[in-house]
Order: sequence, then structure tokens, then C-alpha cells
Amino acid sequence: MKYLLVLIVLVIAYNVWRKQRIDDRQADEQQRRPPPAGTPRIPQQMVPCARCGLMLPQSDALERDGHHFCCAEHREQGPA
Ligand SMILES: [Zn+2]
Repeated sequence: MKYLLVLIVLVIAYNVWRKQRIDDRQADEQQRRPPPAGTPRIPQQMVPCARCGLMLPQSDALERDGHHFCCAEHREQGPA
């Protein structure tokens, strides 16, 4: 009877240990997973606002006459 109790404790301990390992592995895989396709991993090219000099990603910049601007207001005002 004593051995049966020891065996049960060992089985429970083994199951707990195995579950923790599976949880750890799932956490690792989630951390290793690359970011979603929507977020570009390549750093964007930064361009200065022709009015105030603020650096901003080219995709966010407003363009007029070959100049980049940070906002519509600066675009209307034109290059400094
Ligand atoms: Zn600006």
C-alpha cells in the first residue's frame, strides 16, 4: 500500500513536470514566431520635412514638388 502511494505521487509529479515543459515550449514558439505580415521588418527610409526639418518615414511624408513635408500645413507653406 505504501508503494502504491509513492507511485501515485510520482505519476502526478511526472504529469505536472510534463505539462510545464509543454507550456514552456508553447511560450518559446510564440516568442520565436515572426511578427505578422502587416508590419514591415525593414527599417523605413526617413526623410526630413522641407519646412521644419522633422524626420519622418517616407511613407508618412506628404510630397509636393519633390519635397517631403510632415503635415498638410507645412506642405501648404512650402519649403523653408
Ligand atoms: Zn514640418
